[in-house]
Amino acid sequence: MTKPWSPTDFAAKVIEYYHAHGRKHLPWQNTKDPYKIWLSEIMLQQTQVTTVIPYFERFIQSFPTVTDLAQATDDQVMQHWSGLGYYSRARNLHKAAQIVESEYSGVFPQDPETIETLPGIGRSTAGAIASFAFGLPTAILDGNVKRVLARCYAIEGWPGNGKVLKALWKRAEANTPQQETAAYNQAMMDLGAVVCTRTKPDCTICPLSKHCLAYSNDSIEQYPGKKPKKARPSKSVYWLISIHQDKVLLHKRPPSGIWGGLWTLPEVVQSETTSGDLQTLEPFVHKFSHYDLQVQPLLVTSKADKALVEKNSHTSIMEPAQADWFSLNQLSEIGLPTPVSKLLMKLLEHS
Ligand code: SF4
Repeated sequence: MTKPWSPTDFAAKVIEYYHAHGRKHLPWQNTKDPYKIWLSEIMLQQTQVTTVIPYFERFIQSFPTVTDLAQATDDQVMQHWSGLGYYSRARNLHKAAQIVESEYSGVFPQDPETIETLPGIGRSTAGAIASFAFGLPTAILDGNVKRVLARCYAIEGWPGNGKVLKALWKRAEANTPQQETAAYNQAMMDLGAVVCTRTKPDCTICPLSKHCLAYSNDSIEQYPGKKPKKARPSKSVYWLISIHQDKVLLHKRPPSGIWGGLWTLPEVVQSETTSGDLQTLEPFVHKFSHYDLQVQPLLVTSKADKALVEKNSHTSIMEPAQADWFSLNQLSEIGLPTPVSKLLMKLLEHS
């Protein structure tokens, strides 16, 4: 059975990959300027490298230092970000530059925990800045790194879950080497972006394949675990089909909301008790985009008197804009939602 990688062997393989294949000539590489590294890390969140390059270059040309950025107007900053999306990144960047300027005299802080207190900078970005700019042995855990680690060590569960995230951070910290941390972190980002991609990872060229648990167990698609789907909400109602002297009682829905302005059968929540001489018809489910409506139609039989019918109609969970009795042949002339019209037509056919 395949053994997982030991932290030392793992780091050695990743650093070897960096020297052989790592990306080393991007505009924010070959610099120790924390401002440029920070800017690139923020721009690269949710955005591809090729898209980021021209934005990064324009930004640095207009605001070459953190002080220039701090002194820029909101409009100038937003105009340079325009088209890159996720604009809160730009607003936080601007705010953080002003804090660096006012609280740290324009000198970017070195301590990762202090870096993390700046707006828009999380633990992983702080780790990346500290390792790339200051050579500190800080771990990173962006989306790409999460994927590589989850697969290599078969760490189950959705990384958005606190426990799973903790397990990933533990692994990230254990594997991060004390030496050549910047090379290691860069290579982990590259591996996730280029080799261990979300769909169709190229395991045959991956330097980690020999001890990758997901690869050896043929279970790559299980990692990282997916976000659990929320149970689809549903609402259970009775629809009262009250027929009196060949007429059916309908409620007109208020103009806004589900089936706004259409005529529907009086609706009663299923937990409420209904009384009277009621016949249960076949239940069905009507699917709306955001919930399921479980309908139990109840036919108020001819034995029921009009008072009972009207009593039931007033238990409706929705205040109708209007209520009226319609003869069955008038139904084609009024606006009815499809399931109401289907139900009544079926009833007509069998009456
Ligand atoms: S072997 Fe495949 S699944 Fe495992 S880390 Fe490499 S690319 Fe990802």
